[in-house]
Amino acid sequence: MSKPFRNTIVLALLFSCLVAVPVGASDPVHWGYDGDIGPEHWGALTPEFAACAEGREQSPVNIPATAPVNPPELRFDYRPSAINIVNNGHSIQVNYEPGSTLEAGGAVYELVQFHLHGLSEHTLNGAYTDMELHLVHKDAAGHIAVVAVMIEGGAHNPSYEAVLANMPAEEGDPLTVPGTMANASQLLPAEQSYYRYNGSLTTPPCTEGVAWFVLATPVELSTAQIAAFRSLYDHNYRPVQPLYERTFLRSASLPPTGLPGTGGPGAAAGPGILLAMGLCLLAIALGATRQTSERGRPASRRGCDRRQ
Ligand SMILES: [Zn+2]
Repeated sequence: MSKPFRNTIVLALLFSCLVAVPVGASDPVHWGYDGDIGPEHWGALTPEFAACAEGREQSPVNIPATAPVNPPELRFDYRPSAINIVNNGHSIQVNYEPGSTLEAGGAVYELVQFHLHGLSEHTLNGAYTDMELHLVHKDAAGHIAVVAVMIEGGAHNPSYEAVLANMPAEEGDPLTVPGTMANASQLLPAEQSYYRYNGSLTTPPCTEGVAWFVLATPVELSTAQIAAFRSLYDHNYRPVQPLYERTFLRSASLPPTGLPGTGGPGAAAGPGILLAMGLCLLAIALGATRQTSERGRPASRRGCDRRQ
């Protein structure tokens, strides 16, 4: 092997290692829900967590009574999965086998994992529910969508037992539970209307660009089931974050975050979009007149093909 060629390979390997293993990945920053590593300090723990303090589209949020409730048009195609369960020090999480999908607004996301919070993270008109389930999905490009299921005290729920009966008491590596399957479709309420907004992960690094679908109808767990989870995690929830300029989305305008131009059920051009297109064309015509007179060339169309 010639020396320049060998050097090229060494450099390529070195570069791929740098890309694959970000600095600090082997030494994760310790965070929690209490004291000086609690939610109000996450953003200062490391520059990688800066979004926790500086982000303007953070989760969870309070869902006001005026937020539009979208019809149950999410398409869940969840298959049973072997239970690979982990106590990760922040929650109990079940890693899901590939092949279960959520279709929303023309985008298809794969279910990656679900986990529980010992009090709800989202509030509805200021009110908490007893727990909250997060089903975390990714699409092929890596965009994240989270479906939140609010949980309140009530009847015993056998669908959650496969998880609750196999929770590792101590933080550690994932365990596969032999002979038991998880079925995420049975963790959902029968009625699946939802609130939709753009937010973030609710744990560090608080990454934004997450499409949130908060199901409006809660499911029930018994007092004993809630107590079983809370014996491990009774306050692993982040306080609600400011909405800033965000609004809750109606289903006719539901492009998932970061997915421009995705159509889908209910996403056909409505009166609002036609009006916007008309205004855009008018702006082009007026701009072209001005630009032509000022600079002798037509105006750019840039910015006029953005979705509303
Ligand atoms: Zn969560």
